[in-house]
This record gives sequence, structure tokens and C-alpha cells, in this order.
Amino acid sequence: MDRVCVTRDEGWRSRVVRMPARFCRSQHEGMAPLASLPSARTLCSMSACSSQAADPCTYTDRRGQSCSTAFCSAHSVSVAGVPYCRRHAGTLVAIGELAQNPRGLPDVADRGPALVNCIVRDLDKDIRSLLAGPIRPGERLIVDDAVHLIHDQWRRARWERSWRIVEPTGRVLAVTVHVAEDDQSRVRVRVAAEMVADTVPPWIARRSQGVEVGAAIDISQRQRFYQRLEENIAAAVTRLRSREDSIAAQAVHRS
Ligand SMILES: [Zn+2]
Ligand SMILES: [Zn+2]
Repeated sequence: MDRVCVTRDEGWRSRVVRMPARFCRSQHEGMAPLASLPSARTLCSMSACSSQAADPCTYTDRRGQSCSTAFCSAHSVSVAGVPYCRRHAGTLVAIGELAQNPRGLPDVADRGPALVNCIVRDLDKDIRSLLAGPIRPGERLIVDDAVHLIHDQWRRARWERSWRIVEPTGRVLAVTVHVAEDDQSRVRVRVAAEMVADTVPPWIARRSQGVEVGAAIDISQRQRFYQRLEENIAAAVTRLRSREDSIAAQAVHRS
């Protein structure tokens, strides 16, 4: 498997906006709108980039907090023609229609939606084929089209996205990837009610430890991470479906 998540944001630096001192005032002091100011030279937030033609990430969250990064055209990502940093472009893509609602936009620092979406995207092909194998007559596979915000019974929030086998009477089995809002480094995967993975992805662990590795090691670590997830998911799916078959066989035997 050579697919890798590309929502990397390590190496960013704070945006430096070089503006004349007279512009560094509150908007209430009679500043002209930004559009009419002489063009500012803004350094790209990518640490290895020297471009001074960066555009600010235009993301503003549900609390009105905006992103403090700016990227040049080579390092920003356009969503509907608007420039964003990679993380927030990933966030908007991840939450789908929720992105149309300004009050639904995740906090600036919340990496959960983009992380869940990244992992689901990288696992998607293999999980679809894994679940298609044991599918039975009358069942079908549904894949969430976006990451959803879910609250548990204690009002703790998590971002999650699922593959679900359903039948006309309801859900049969779901494989769900989620990241809790209060622990955004840790990815958890459930098959039905069984937790089959509770782990920090290697690229996030490295970032929190300040460790940098070459591309080959990065790809290798990601591949091992996804391979372990797939093995755990496959084992749980096989176990659960076998148990269902066994229960069904016993019911037929008794009748
Ligand atoms: Zn750049
Ligand atoms: Zn941003």
C-alpha cells in the first residue's frame, strides 16, 4: 500500500506580516479596508519557503477565531477558489455540508476532522473490499460521505466517520474511525462496539516529540500504521461475522 496521508503541517512558522507601522492599529482607528492598502509582503508559513507572496489562510471558526498562517500559492490549498492552509482545507473537505454553516466550523486548533478524514481516505479501498467479502443477501455497504460531530452520553464530543453494513431492519456492523475533541492526537477505531485500535499515528507522535525523519522512513512508518489498523479491523470483522453465523445456525437447528 503506497497511499499516505498528506495533511502534514509540521514545519510551519508564525506568519510575519510586514506592514508599515501606521497600519498596525485597530480597525477602529480609521484604517482603510485591506483591499485598498498597498500590497503587503507576507512571508510563507512553510519553514523551508522564502516566498513573501503568501495569502493568509481565510479560515475562521465558529467562535470567530481565525488562522494565523499564510502560504504562498505553492503551499496553500484552494477550496472553492479561496486559499487555506492545508489543515483547514482538510477540515472543510472533511466536514462536507457542515462547512456551509459558519456556526458549525470546528475550532481553529481542532485537527480531529481532517485527521479522521485522512485516515478514512487512506483505508477506504481496503475496508470496502474487506466488508464486501462477507456481505450477505439483503445487506449493503454504506460509507459516510463526511466526518460527523457526535456527542456521547456524557456530552463528550468526537469526530467520526464510518463504513456500515446495513440491512432493511437496521445496522448490522459498523467500522468507525474517531478522534475525541479532548484528545486530538489519538485515533480510535471500533468494529461494532469493540475497540480495535487506540493509537497515536506516527507522524503526530513525531511532531509532538520534535522528531524529523526522511521521506522513506515516514512512508514506511505510515504503511506499518495502516497495515496494523487493517489487520485489527479484519480480525474483528471475521470474528463478529462468524459469531453471527454461529448464532444463526443454532437458531435454525432449534427450529
Ligand atoms: Zn511557500
Ligand atoms: Zn489555516
